[in-house]
Amino acid sequence: MGQVKSITKKSEDISAWYNDVIARAKLAEHGPVRGTMIFRLLGFALWEAIQKTLDTKIKDLGAQNAYFPLFIPLSFLQKEQSHVKGFSPELAVVTHGGGEKLTEPVVVRPTSETIMYDAFSRWIESFRDLPLVINQWSNVVRWEKRPYMFLRTTEFLWQEGHSAHATNEDAQKMADGALKMYVDFYQNTLALYGYAGKKSETEKFPGADTTLTYEILAPDGKVIQACTSHNLGQNFAKVFKVEFQNEQGEKKLVWQTSWGLTTRSIGAVILAHGDDNGLVLPPQIAPLQVVIIPIISKGVDKDAILKMAGQAFGILEGNNIKVKMDDNDQSPGWKFNQYELEGVPLRIEIGSTELKDKSFRVVRRDNKDSFSFKLETIGFEIQQLLSTMQKDLLAKHKDFTLENTRQADTYEDFKKIMSATKGFIEAFWCEDASCEEKIKSETKASTRCFPLDGIKVEGKCIVCGKKSTRRWLFAQSY
Ligand SMILES: [Zn+2]
Repeated sequence: MGQVKSITKKSEDISAWYNDVIARAKLAEHGPVRGTMIFRLLGFALWEAIQKTLDTKIKDLGAQNAYFPLFIPLSFLQKEQSHVKGFSPELAVVTHGGGEKLTEPVVVRPTSETIMYDAFSRWIESFRDLPLVINQWSNVVRWEKRPYMFLRTTEFLWQEGHSAHATNEDAQKMADGALKMYVDFYQNTLALYGYAGKKSETEKFPGADTTLTYEILAPDGKVIQACTSHNLGQNFAKVFKVEFQNEQGEKKLVWQTSWGLTTRSIGAVILAHGDDNGLVLPPQIAPLQVVIIPIISKGVDKDAILKMAGQAFGILEGNNIKVKMDDNDQSPGWKFNQYELEGVPLRIEIGSTELKDKSFRVVRRDNKDSFSFKLETIGFEIQQLLSTMQKDLLAKHKDFTLENTRQADTYEDFKKIMSATKGFIEAFWCEDASCEEKIKSETKASTRCFPLDGIKVEGKCIVCGKKSTRRWLFAQSY
């Protein structure tokens, strides 16, 4: 009988804890090429659960799935100047193929705007072809100099949505709708609170007019950019000649958006919800929601316990709860540790006490609260408990985020906070790139966003003292 080796405590060294959890819960491991990652069974099951939920929401937005090639001619990226400038440092470029030097280098896609919009220019003819909304589930490559499992990997998995519209208003509506979808998904499926907002000119996507984002706070006070949604204006339409004939018969350029969510969302779940014993998975995303553990000790009626366990299993399965019965010969203590490490939301124990009482002992993974349920009501009770736990996890992360969002009205205060607790800082900024750069180089904190629900107020830039009309959110980021 194996022992579950202890993992580093989260409060002592979050980075060592993170790596321990990923290794021991068998989520992933490093690939042989630096920056790449092997998704193991639990890690990939989480991505599949994310895909399943999000794919439905994406289709509700009006998108259909397609697939475009992994290789893109370098010349395609070079067509949009800010796009190629932004991505150049991260590109993986193929110069040889089939044993020969290629006449034109080929890029491994870092994102698919260019290759998709080249096709859009052939597919779109008239206003009747609009809007065109395409989603792709794929891998992309952006060479990563400081790789970190799930959060920053050279190759990662994602979905990228792309659209073309007749008007800028329609495009903005799509970009807003995509962000709203992500916020809903993060809050109600992954139980992660955050700030939705607009990126600064410096931080926006290369080639976009505006970029919307959702920013999530990790326990160490650093922030994760959880997804983005871009209004691309006509920047790509111009260079790829994506045109349509309007109702008056005139040729017009389309207005476009793109939006994506990646496997770093799994990193956010691990970091935000996990504890000293391992993963804590929100029930909505957990590949396994409930584990039933019969406790067979000497002198108890094994058959009666297994019968009770089987009854509970049948009821839960009938209620569409993802449930497993573990009656293998490992000790109950080993199993408790193992399923805690893997973040299974609820555990049901049935031992001699439960057999006598005709009850089931249920333990919550997140706060260790325990309950006693009867067979007659167990289906309903477990469903209620899963839903309560889901809500509690979001509430806990929201409290943590709000507690760690501070205002700084002087640069001195700003620096003090950034060198101690970190977290989000709301501060006045004049929106000059030079003040933004000074803050970043001196405190490692960048502008994360201007919150969409932010209010207009008068203030002075914490760096130069010039007039500012709104507080921006700053933080150090992953
Ligand atoms: Zn300033």
